[in-house]
Amino acid sequence: MGGEEHEACGRDLHLPHLLASDSVVAGEGSVAATPRQGPVDILRYGRPLPGSLRISLLEASRMTILDRAVAELRARDLDALLVGPGADLRHLTGYHALPLERLTLLVVRADGRHTLVVPALERPRAEASGAAGVVDLVDWGETADPFAAVLGALDGSPARRFAVGDRLWATFLLSLQEALPGAAWVRGSQVTRELRIRKTAAEVDALRRAAAAIDRVHARVPGLLAPGRTEAEIGRDIAAAIVEEGHQEVNFVIVASGPNGASPHHETGDRVVARGDAVVVDIGGTLDGYCSDCTRDYVVGSAPDGYADAHAALEAAQAAACDAVRPGVTAAAVDAAARDVLEAAGYGAHFVHRTGHGIGLEEHEDPYIVAGNDRPLEPGMAFSVEPGVYLPGRWGMRIEDIVVVTDDGGERLDRLDRAAVTV
Ligand code: ZN
Ligand code: ZN
Ligand code: ZN
Repeated sequence: MGGEEHEACGRDLHLPHLLASDSVVAGEGSVAATPRQGPVDILRYGRPLPGSLRISLLEASRMTILDRAVAELRARDLDALLVGPGADLRHLTGYHALPLERLTLLVVRADGRHTLVVPALERPRAEASGAAGVVDLVDWGETADPFAAVLGALDGSPARRFAVGDRLWATFLLSLQEALPGAAWVRGSQVTRELRIRKTAAEVDALRRAAAAIDRVHARVPGLLAPGRTEAEIGRDIAAAIVEEGHQEVNFVIVASGPNGASPHHETGDRVVARGDAVVVDIGGTLDGYCSDCTRDYVVGSAPDGYADAHAALEAAQAAACDAVRPGVTAAAVDAAARDVLEAAGYGAHFVHRTGHGIGLEEHEDPYIVAGNDRPLEPGMAFSVEPGVYLPGRWGMRIEDIVVVTDDGGERLDRLDRAAVTV
């Protein structure tokens, strides 16, 4: 967004809140990833502006996300997008709704009239989120029928084809289908994927800060990993460090020692770390709404047989995949870049998962870095590059960085050395 546009509409440039990320810039010279919407566009859908014509950039940015959702709906000939609590709702409205048995549902209509249906007792939280600045807020009382409120929100729209949030609970979808017989339903991700898959400059900055925070945690791991301690004890200390280093939430802590390392998603448990163990530490948290996710390998004392050679191959594979990242290259090609190196080194059969997953408001989101995903990478896409080698009964290893596609390559957000660290 150019500075002249801000001056023209007199909006406040200095936003404390991160959700301003979409289409709104962090500072001079930043570039928005979406087409610019001027004040006229913002007014076009007829939302009564809160208070006055001066709306905050935060509200303007949310309006633009909703405008983009409208464009995606129209392009797919869909009448409305129905979204429950979760990352899509946060992205569209800034509202961090609780996942409750009481229905919360955002109705985004192709004609630009949007409603957030909330339980009456959640209304204060919904109002505090600022969502009411960009959508109508409708609450339903404890004994009322929430689906009647949804039908009301669809009133006047020739609603026949709906996109419904992928994570909406089945019980709510079944009730919606009963309330709207004859409607056609498609996955909401058809719409929301396109809104989230390319991160804006401010979102990339948030991912960068989250990555720096998790790097600081990994830098502390050698002081926590000691023979005689259990995985769970080490994991608790790591969880505390994740918060101490700036995350608001701990998303997961995997401490997989010795043979446990051969299970990529091992549940941190009672095993006592011993000399000669290889240990996989895969950790992540949420910082200002955006996720970190980073894996490094540690060796207690001396490495087990064959470990050093495999780790050298793994480092080469991970570097090859990171080096392959640039606009126009397919996600599948990045996966292949890692896999080819490990196959050539004889470890192909032991690399048992895809190379990576997108990351943002959620730990795992589009794009997935996997064979068969022929979607070309675009600037702003963010994902993990995390090949691994797993030898059942012996040990495992994985190296994981978050990488963002730039205009001419990729930027690794996690920067710690990738060699196995001996403790
Ligand atoms: Zn994973
Ligand atoms: Zn991970
Ligand atoms: Zn990951």
